[in-house]
Amino acid sequence: MGYDAIIAGASFAGLAVAHFIDGEVAVLEREEVLGARQRSTCAAPEGWVRRLGAPESVLGRFDRVVVHSPGGNQAELRLPEGYCTLDYAVFCRKAAERSGAEVLTGERVQEVRRGGRELVCTRRAYTSGVVVDASGWSAAVASRLRRGYAKGRLARGVEVEGRYEVEEAHIYLGSSAVPGGYAWVFPLGDGRARVGLGSLRRLPLVELNRRFLRRLGVRECSPHHGGVIPCSGLREPVVSRVFVVGDAAGQVLPGTAEGIRKCFEFAEVCGRLVSRVVAGELRLEEGLEEYRSRVLASKEFYETMLLVQRVAYRLPDRVLDAAVERGRELADAVVGSYFSERVDERLRKAAGSLRVLQAFLPGSRA
Ligand SMILES: Cc1cc2nc3c(=O)[nH]c(=O)nc-3n(C[C@H](O)[C@H](O)[C@H](O)COP(=O)(O)OP(=O)(O)OC[C@H]3O[C@@H](n4cnc5c(N)ncnc54)[C@H](O)[C@@H]3O)c2cc1C
Repeated sequence: MGYDAIIAGASFAGLAVAHFIDGEVAVLEREEVLGARQRSTCAAPEGWVRRLGAPESVLGRFDRVVVHSPGGNQAELRLPEGYCTLDYAVFCRKAAERSGAEVLTGERVQEVRRGGRELVCTRRAYTSGVVVDASGWSAAVASRLRRGYAKGRLARGVEVEGRYEVEEAHIYLGSSAVPGGYAWVFPLGDGRARVGLGSLRRLPLVELNRRFLRRLGVRECSPHHGGVIPCSGLREPVVSRVFVVGDAAGQVLPGTAEGIRKCFEFAEVCGRLVSRVVAGELRLEEGLEEYRSRVLASKEFYETMLLVQRVAYRLPDRVLDAAVERGRELADAVVGSYFSERVDERLRKAAGSLRVLQAFLPGSRA
């Protein structure tokens, strides 16, 4: 059967792109069972989850994030919209159903032909005029079209589910939690939470997470799971004739590792443009160019977050204590800048100070 568009990867980015395309769409997923391999804490804005037709997947809800410094200072950040944690398998199933796309599991992209128009998968080859790579950090399509495309710094994270009663999300900074990253607790409702940590450094993360669980007094109720976060900032969003979306395009935010909301936002841009290409309102080249320029409009914000990441995760504990103390007063401004992605004079000045600070920090560039 001929498809108007084919998408590699049936997770947050791929299923959201499918949702926004009017037409015959195939989503190719390497796993045998959709949503079988959860890697993430799966915290995302609830409004988005409902919009994509997966309210059944919502587990815990929260609207605040409490940041803890190593010395015990706390800053509370109020989120501009309600967030939730998700049951990943249910999210994938419901979002797939409601997207109207044909999801083909057990189809790993193994080879890319004809400049990206043909994807050779486990069982057969698929061809379409429109191809989207939403296959996560390793960018299964784009990296076959452009050698070294998926290179760049990676962070790693692990977590478990445990019995722990919290109503808000918690972030723990400093070397006693994990060097070069942060530890977290996200509510799942029902007296349970996802508890984990991630770092830019190569560390025994499971061991460190067990130490963190002991510190909080949390009993593990699941095996550890986790994954990789491509946190080097935006990659080129168009490769050859292929739209690249989500982690495949480095769209996860450096510094916070928030990737799901960004998948959804850029997927909407991509899916709507693809629909116009399919309807004959735009030529493919015009759709690709428009997508590229809409994504790269965020470049300066991503570069600023990259700088925050390079500095924040190398600061000594006592500086983190002071930063979190000061963060309490600046909480609304910080949240406002983060969610609006507005790079104004104040943010540029702050970035300038971070650049100066960076020069005085020990260790390699993070
Ligand atoms: C431990 C951890 C915790 C995180 N917590 C959060 C959080 O709470 N909130 C948040 O916003 N972000 C979080 N993130 C980041 C977030 O999970 C990612 O940004 C997000 O999953 C990216 O979605 P994606 O669809 O682009 O890629 P992925 O979710 O990685 O999905 C890629 C899909 O493509 C498939 N695939 C891969 N290769 C092929 C191939 N060759 N052929 C066919 N299919 C293929 C995969 O099986 C997978 O289904 C976390 C990340 C980690 C590692």
